[in-house]
Amino acid sequence: MSFSELGLMAELVCAVSEEGYIHPTPVQKQAIPVILAGKDVLAGAQTGTGKTAGFTLPLLQRLSKREPVGSRRPVRALILTPTRELAAQVAECVVTYGKHLPLKSAVVFGGVNINPQIAKLRRGVDILIATPGRLLDHIGQKTLDLSQLEILVLDEADRMLDMGFIRDIRKIMALLPASGRDGRQNLLFSATFSEEIRQLASGLLHEPVHIEVARRNTTVETVAQVMHPVDRVRKQELLSHLINSQNWRQVLVFMRTKHGANKLAKQLETDGISSAAIHGNKSQGARTKALADFKTGTVRVLVATDIAARGLDIDQLPHVVNFELPNIPEDYVHRIGRTGRAGNEGEAISLVCIDEREFLHDIERLIKHEIPSVVIEGFKPDASIKAEPIFKKQEQRAPRPGNSTGQARRPQRQERGKNGNQLEQKPQPGQGQHKPRSGNAPQPSANTRSRPLQHARPGQRPAQRSS
Ligand code: AMP
Repeated sequence: MSFSELGLMAELVCAVSEEGYIHPTPVQKQAIPVILAGKDVLAGAQTGTGKTAGFTLPLLQRLSKREPVGSRRPVRALILTPTRELAAQVAECVVTYGKHLPLKSAVVFGGVNINPQIAKLRRGVDILIATPGRLLDHIGQKTLDLSQLEILVLDEADRMLDMGFIRDIRKIMALLPASGRDGRQNLLFSATFSEEIRQLASGLLHEPVHIEVARRNTTVETVAQVMHPVDRVRKQELLSHLINSQNWRQVLVFMRTKHGANKLAKQLETDGISSAAIHGNKSQGARTKALADFKTGTVRVLVATDIAARGLDIDQLPHVVNFELPNIPEDYVHRIGRTGRAGNEGEAISLVCIDEREFLHDIERLIKHEIPSVVIEGFKPDASIKAEPIFKKQEQRAPRPGNSTGQARRPQRQERGKNGNQLEQKPQPGQGQHKPRSGNAPQPSANTRSRPLQHARPGQRPAQRSS
């Protein structure tokens, strides 16, 4: 099947063939005709499946077929993403796929000066890609009008909820014009479907078409997985050995803590392997530079925490290394989703020390198979070394708003890393990717016809991850 058979216009078919895409991926085959027909969509698709083109191409076509309403150029499509990096990547795709169309796009996210974003919005934008916090900042400053919105996309909705953006999303939804048969079209993409996602979807989507291309909580099939048992103190030595002996040119390495990521990047540099760390404590400029250097090959190893790595689209990434296993098993699936993208083969390597056995079992239970274990010559673990707990006992916490019982939330073991290192925290509602707002974000107006979220639980946050 070709892209034109899916009903795409010549300008878009031309743009994708210039990208070297020959056949649409499964999610594209399913999503493109349905979105072109104007239907709402609930899509289960992991990153790496080609989902971005799956919603961007029909979105561009729909916008280019209809004249904008009014004399000014209002935002007609809004794509919300959980992270700045993903926003930037989706924005790049919009520009690439839309290069033969006269549509204008802009991207807004926190961590950078708001003024150039305001100037761009003033000049008129058809498609806006945004992270929730900065979008609310713009709405609060009245630099953005969403009253003419025709298409809303929630990309990686599960991560947005994981990162505590539910309140921001609800605020945004309440400010949008009506959805429904002839109103706004809504598209929700998510890798996993928790009860919370289903509730969000039921409040947002109107008679959605369900699309499912990857089984829930299964590992991307094109990724070969292996684990190397190793002593905890010899992991870095083993990593340098693997990179050098197998001549890996581009490796994404995952750590649980920001401190650990910095330390490992420095140690690898000492070993003569060019490396950069990417995590939430780095400025936006440093993160963008690290990613760009990694993509161009200036930097061979990118050491990342889970949150920083969310949604990173690095073409055909051949190797992903779990230097430390994640303590949340679903993060393993997200991590290795960085490789084997869109049908390209990839390899996920986990360096596992005795302390991480429990994490390994949790992961294998989730993915429903054992990860083959291969001992690297010269790195056989010392059988006399005993396991040490990775996390200190959770400290007593004050009750959270909305949780009057003050019960500790699950899971408790991830609050602090080994040696008391603080694990990277997700942004919480009202903070995180953006400055705390001064309360000037508008309240949902009485005349919006957006349906309220019936089941949203504002005080409830999902378990925090240790990225
Ligand atoms: P995504 O799941 O949207 O993050 O896309 C993953 C990667 O697949 C991106 O690098 C895209 O450029 C690439 N891609 C998307 N669609 C296709 C296609 N039809 N053929 C080949 N590569 C594609």
